[in-house]
Amino acid sequence: MEGAKKMKRIGVLTSGGDAPGMNAIIRAVARTAMHFGIECVGIRRGYAGLINSDFVMLETNMVRHILGRGGTILYTARCDEFMTEKGREKAVATCKMLGLDGIVAVGGDGTFKGALELSRLGVPVMGIPATIDNDIGCSNYTIGFDSACNTAIDCIDKLRDTMQSHERCSVVEVMGRHAGFLALYVGIAVGATSVLIPEHPVDFEQDIVQRIQNSRLAGVTHFMIVVAEGAGSAFEIARKIKETVGIDPRVTVLGHIQRGGAPTGRDRETATRMGYYAVRAFAEGRSGNVIATREGGIVEIPIEEALTMKKHLQMDRYEILEAIAASGAIHKN
Ligand code: ATP
Repeated sequence: MEGAKKMKRIGVLTSGGDAPGMNAIIRAVARTAMHFGIECVGIRRGYAGLINSDFVMLETNMVRHILGRGGTILYTARCDEFMTEKGREKAVATCKMLGLDGIVAVGGDGTFKGALELSRLGVPVMGIPATIDNDIGCSNYTIGFDSACNTAIDCIDKLRDTMQSHERCSVVEVMGRHAGFLALYVGIAVGATSVLIPEHPVDFEQDIVQRIQNSRLAGVTHFMIVVAEGAGSAFEIARKIKETVGIDPRVTVLGHIQRGGAPTGRDRETATRMGYYAVRAFAEGRSGNVIATREGGIVEIPIEEALTMKKHLQMDRYEILEAIAASGAIHKN
């Protein structure tokens, strides 16, 4: 089936957690399909839409003015039924019923696992990485990361104003699941006192207590501790700071606010390129790949291989943060 005939109609779905820029991908997929003379069908609610035949034709009007909109017009969902053989059979039946020659699946690793299953059942697929966590091994960059970083930075800048006025300590929990990409980037960008990430064991005494105490001696009156959700609970860290340092930190869990909002320029631009390359691959007879970024360019990686790839946090960023934060806490007697 793969690459054997010219594609006439493809589907696009967004699955897993939403990320700013998903709409920009949908638009690029629909418009590029049009460019290559392929019809495009939007599948609603991820794989659930394939099972339940929940779809919408993506004509030009449907994707107008969505480039800069957060969320996903196709909705997104996690679908347990698709994890079963029966569920996947229903999904394949829908692909046949709709005459879909291929599916562009937008989401994270789970979404790509689902896409791999579809391709094993004879449906050509292409994957596009979109998650604010930036934790997909095969791609340097995932759509939504830049927007989420900027949202978190904006929130923390506002928190800093009030922490500075009241001379307080703030403990802010940011998303990122099991990875510290978001927390480290944000921590550097807001000039955090300390950043706690899952990739680096926390030495509470050295990384937090001494840093705050030295900063105080150097005349600093407010402190910003950024915690990745995968590195521990912000409430627990605040409780320990209160116990050991004797100050009463305010806790803010940024939560889902990081997944919303208009995508940044970087996300819109990269999403558009990824959407274009996914459909172009179909038009040129290729499938079964994830569209990924590498050194600024776009590459295609077979899904099976993509799912085995691991991405490691660049620890030099942690060293930079440490060096800058620690030297800000140096005091002269
Ligand atoms: P996020 O990074 O936001 O969590 P994700 O794509 O990794 O995104 P998941 O919830 O892991 O999110 O997966 C999304 C959906 O993909 C699942 O609800 C399910 O429908 C499908 N899926 C995940 N894993 C598999 C699998 N092993 N086989 C078939 N389908 C799967």
